[in-house]
Amino acid sequence: TTTTVWNYSAGPAIMPKPVLQKAAAELVNWNNTAMSVMELSHRSPEFEQILATTEHNLRTLLAIPHNYRVLWMQGGATSQFSALVYNLFGHPHEHVAADYLVTGAWSAKAVQEANRLGVKTNVVLDTTASNHTGSIDPTTIHYTPAPNAAYVYYCDNETVHGVEFPAVLANVPASVPLVCDMSSNILSRTFDVSKFGLIFAGAQKNIGPAGATLVLIRDDLLDRKHPTLVCPVMMDYALCAKNNSMYNTPPTYAIYVSGLVFEWLLQQGGIPAMEKRNKEKAETLYTAIDSSNGLFVCPVAKTYRSRMNVPFRVCDPTTGQPSNDLEKRFLNGAQERRMLQLKGHRSVGGIRASLYNAMPIEGVNVLVDYMREFAATVN
Ligand code: PMP
Repeated sequence: TTTTVWNYSAGPAIMPKPVLQKAAAELVNWNNTAMSVMELSHRSPEFEQILATTEHNLRTLLAIPHNYRVLWMQGGATSQFSALVYNLFGHPHEHVAADYLVTGAWSAKAVQEANRLGVKTNVVLDTTASNHTGSIDPTTIHYTPAPNAAYVYYCDNETVHGVEFPAVLANVPASVPLVCDMSSNILSRTFDVSKFGLIFAGAQKNIGPAGATLVLIRDDLLDRKHPTLVCPVMMDYALCAKNNSMYNTPPTYAIYVSGLVFEWLLQQGGIPAMEKRNKEKAETLYTAIDSSNGLFVCPVAKTYRSRMNVPFRVCDPTTGQPSNDLEKRFLNGAQERRMLQLKGHRSVGGIRASLYNAMPIEGVNVLVDYMREFAATVN
C-alpha cells in the first residue's frame, strides 16, 4: 500500500491516478503483446496505432482544425525557444523582426534565446521592472507593422511568477502569426486554436511525462524557414511533420502515457469540465490567500492570476513583509501533513501551489484548511 500525498509540484507534476494505474497494469504486457510499450519499435503497427489514437483524442479535446499539424518533438519547451526562430523567420520582406511580450521568467528566456541566435526582436511589453506581477495592459502595446513582423510571441501562463493571460491575446496585427508557450496551462481551459500560428508545450505538467514536447502548427507556417540560419534537423517543423513525428525515434513511452491522459480527460468530460474544476480550485485558494488579513500575500494583479500556479508569500504580521522563517515553518508543517513540493521557484522564493488538471479539489481544500490552521498559530 502507498500513503496518500498531495503533490503541488510545478513540473514534472501530479498525474491522474487512474492513468498511473492503467500504465502500471499494462507495463509489462500491453494489449496482450507480452511486451511493454517501451519495448515496441516506433515503426511497429502497434506504436503507429498508439500515435494515431493519441493524436485523434488530442484533436477532439482541443478541437484542432484540419489545417493544423500535431507534432511530437524533443528537447522540452526550451528547445522550442530556438526552433521557432529557425522555422518562422523566413519572410518575403526585409528588416524582419519578431515581437515578444515578456511577462515572466519563461518568456524572458525565449527572447534571450532569439537574441542569442542573432535575429531581430522587439520587446513590446516587459514587466521585469515590476517583478513580473502581471502589470499588463495589452491595449497599449505597439506591435511591429504586419509586413515586417515574423510573429508575435507570448507565454500564456508563466509557471514561475504565476501570471496567466485571462484570454487569447487580442488586437495583434491580423496577418502576423501568434506564437504561444502553453507549457503549463494547455488542456486546462477551452481556447480557439485557430487564433494561433504555433502553440508549444513541454509535456510534464498537464500532458504527461517529461520527454515529449507538443507542437501545434498551422500548415502554411511549415514553409517559413530562416533564409540563412541553418535549422538543425531535430528542430525542423516541416521535416517532423513530413515524417509524422518519426524522423528519428520519438519518446514513445512518454507519448503513450500522454495518450492515457487524453483518454482520461475525455472520460472526465473533456476540457470544459477541466476548466470548471480549475476555476473552482483557483478561486478557493486565492480566496483563502486574500482573506488571511495579510498573512498570505499573492503579489500578482487579480486579472492576471494563474489558475495553474499560485505563488504566495507568508508575511510577518508585525512588519507585513515576507518572512523566511514563517515560510520555512509553513513548508515544514505542510510536509508533516503530506503536502509536498510547495516551495516556490528558487528565483522568487516563497510558496507555490500548482493546481494542474490532475489535482482534485480535495487537494486544494486540505491546503486551505492547513493555511487556516497555520494562521491560528501565528496570530
Ligand atoms: N515554458 C514554461 C511556461 C515552463 O513552465 C517551462 C518549464 N517549467 C518551460 C518553458 C521549459 O520547459 P522544459 O523544461 O521542458 O524545457
